[in-house]
Amino acid sequence: MSIIPENTRHGRLAGKIIVVTGAGSGIGKATTELFRNEGATVIAADLKDADHIADVGSEEDVIRLVSIAREEHGGLHGFFANAGISGGLAGIFEQTPDDWAEILRVNLIGPALAIKHAAPVIKEVGGGSIICTASVAGLRSGAGGAAYSASKAGVISLVKTAAQQLSGSNVRVNAICPGLIETGMTQFVYERARAKGQEGKLGHLNPLRRGGEPHEIANAALFLASDESSYVNGHALVVDGGLSSSHPFNRQDYGRTAI
Ligand code: NAD
Repeated sequence: MSIIPENTRHGRLAGKIIVVTGAGSGIGKATTELFRNEGATVIAADLKDADHIADVGSEEDVIRLVSIAREEHGGLHGFFANAGISGGLAGIFEQTPDDWAEILRVNLIGPALAIKHAAPVIKEVGGGSIICTASVAGLRSGAGGAAYSASKAGVISLVKTAAQQLSGSNVRVNAICPGLIETGMTQFVYERARAKGQEGKLGHLNPLRRGGEPHEIANAALFLASDESSYVNGHALVVDGGLSSSHPFNRQDYGRTAI
C-alpha cells in the first residue's frame, strides 16, 4: 500500500502547497475544492467558514498564512489572493473616504500583501504562481461601483508591476478577471432577477448569454496555479463569456446573430 495520500498521487497540482483566500464562499470555495481534488494541500483562509480565519488586508494575518505553509507544510508553491468585497451599489456621491479605504484595503492592498510575503517563500521552492482575482470591473465601467472598479483596475496593474519586480525569481504573477458569477457577492442580483421572473436575462449581454459558475473561474485558477501555465506571467486572464470583448452594440444591427 502506498504511503502517499490518495489525493496527492495524481492531479495537476500534485504535491503543491497553496494558500487560497476568500475560501469560505463562491469562487474561493470552488477553487479550494478543485485544487484539493487535483492533489494540492490548500491552506484555506477567510474571515469566516474556513480552516484559517484571516483578514487579507492585515499584514500580520498574511504573514501568518505564509508561515503556516512554510513551517507546517514545508514550503509554498502558490497563493490565490481571491478574497474581495464589492461595497454594494453605492454611487460615487454616496461613498465616503472610509468606504473607499476599506474596499482598497481588502481588494488591492490584500493582493499586494500576498505578493510581498508569498513571493520570497515561493522562490525558496524554486518558483511558483501567485494569482489575484481582479474583475471585468477593472477593465471598464458598468460592473461595479467606483471604488470597487478602481480597486480591480489596481489589481490588474499590480500583477504586471509585480511580475516585473520578481524578475529572475521564477515566481509568476497573474490576475483573473471574472465576469458575472453567481456567488455570495452577486446573490442579491440573482435573487432580484428570480423574484421578477427574469433569471434568463442574467448575463444575456455576453455572447454566451448566461452568467458564469464559480467552477468556471476555479478552472482558470487551476490552469494558472499549475505548471501548465509556466510561460504565462504578468497577464490578466478574462473569464467573462465574451462580455468585455465588445463595445455595446445592438445585435439586430448586425444581420444574422445566431447560427
Ligand atoms: P463571495 O462573497 O462569495 O466570496 C468572497 C469571500 O471573501 C467571502 O467568503 C468573504 O468572507 C471573503 N472576504 C471578504 N473580505 C475578506 C477579508 N478582509 N479577509 C478575508 N476574507 C475576506 O464572492 P466571490 O464572487 O466568490 O468573490 C471572490 C472574488 O471574485 C472577489 O475578489 C470578487 O471581487 C471577485 N469577483 C467576483 C465576481 C462575481 O460576479 N461574483 C466578478 C468579478 C470578480
